[in-house]
Amino acid sequence: MKRSKAFCVNCGRETDRLIDGLCAKCYSEKGGFSQIDGRLRIEMCPVCGFIKHRGKWIEEDLYEGMRRLIIENTSFSPQITWRRVDVDFRRKGKTLYDAAIKIEGEIDGNKVEENLYTEILVEKTVCPRCSRKAGKYYEAIIQIRTDERGFDKGEMESIEKYLTESVNRLGKEGRDVFIADRKETRGGVDFYISDKRVAHSLVYQIRDRFGGEIKTSAKLFGMKDGVKQYRMTYLLRLHKYRKHDVIVKDEKIFYIKWFSSSGVKAVDLKSWKEYSFRHKEIVDFNVLRKEDFVREAVVVSKRGKEIQILDPDTYRTVDAVIPAEIELDKTVKIVKYRDEIFLIPPSIE
Ligand SMILES: [Zn+2]
Ligand SMILES: [Zn+2]
Repeated sequence: MKRSKAFCVNCGRETDRLIDGLCAKCYSEKGGFSQIDGRLRIEMCPVCGFIKHRGKWIEEDLYEGMRRLIIENTSFSPQITWRRVDVDFRRKGKTLYDAAIKIEGEIDGNKVEENLYTEILVEKTVCPRCSRKAGKYYEAIIQIRTDERGFDKGEMESIEKYLTESVNRLGKEGRDVFIADRKETRGGVDFYISDKRVAHSLVYQIRDRFGGEIKTSAKLFGMKDGVKQYRMTYLLRLHKYRKHDVIVKDEKIFYIKWFSSSGVKAVDLKSWKEYSFRHKEIVDFNVLRKEDFVREAVVVSKRGKEIQILDPDTYRTVDAVIPAEIELDKTVKIVKYRDEIFLIPPSIE
């Protein structure tokens, strides 16, 4: 069947398809295919620079945000196949921008080009996160302490770095969390965290990395919508011993080879046998700090299990017996304890 022909009311040309009585070419020249309001508003936090988008505060470049706002607020005719939108911004005032918008599309091979103008007012609104931060709002305190020892050089710095980076990362991912305050106390540092669930998860992550025991306590601090509000305190007490420290009790002496949140692997320095301990099994051991007790010493001679090494303090040759007959390097690691010298098995890193 032959398709019926129609005529354009504007140019009179015969065409397969009439749109509003016009051929596609005349229609494409009609214009007015897109509209935008003369003024738009965008909210930006003057403190952190975040932009409010559909009720949520997001990290976005202001120009990106304004461009997105324009596209969201332009009505595009569905008759046109739209190809591209270009926006030229010009700053007009402190918080006012001019936007010249060029839009391109086509209909049945006929190019459509439109130019729109709008201005955008940037409204400065402090976001809830920044306003709570300014008010030092917090729901939990993470307290970092040690057990019967001072902090190692860099130990607190590493923990703080881990904590700060984790909180910053969560903030970038859109979590409403920040460190509200930081206080140095006699025994360590207190970190005030705005979100107690985040604080809970962080203190366990820190324990898994740095060891220690966690004690949790809650303190009622008010009511909100009829619900009791608690502030949490997470006390992380780092273990008194660390990897490569030596622990002793009675006649027992162990070298800590490996350390985790659940326990330690330790080598009996008398037999070189390896043992696993849970932390609670060794709480009453004394700690010989690696800085003070683990030394390097030169092997002078070796015959079977009997060796002679140079005492690093007196430079005298002293005798020692090792539990197993093995090859030794020129220098070995030793522990001097109660006039006895113990060799740390050379296989241990
Ligand atoms: Zn026509
Ligand atoms: Zn902000």
